[in-house]
Amino acid sequence: MAARREERDMKIDDRKIADFIGRKLGIRTCEACGMNAWTHDPTVYELREWDDTGTASGDYGAVVPLVTLSCGKCGNMKLFNAATAGLVDEAGNITA
Ligand SMILES: [Zn+2]
Repeated sequence: MAARREERDMKIDDRKIADFIGRKLGIRTCEACGMNAWTHDPTVYELREWDDTGTASGDYGAVVPLVTLSCGKCGNMKLFNAATAGLVDEAGNITA
């Protein structure tokens, strides 16, 4: 089993996420509750390709790195592909 990446800092600089969100979204209210209370998380998450065995075998197939934007009032979440956003490179490293 591959070693987890606990020793690596998988947090994106808060300013980089805020800059990406500002450029792409500007100021928008949440479509679910109408409030403007967005928060972002510096953690990079992953979305894995579905494995029809129902197990987390380690043979994950396609993995998409994600950053999240959450409404602080109702919990509505938006997911952004961190690679497409330029926040993670093709090797899975946080970009400088
Ligand atoms: Zn909301």
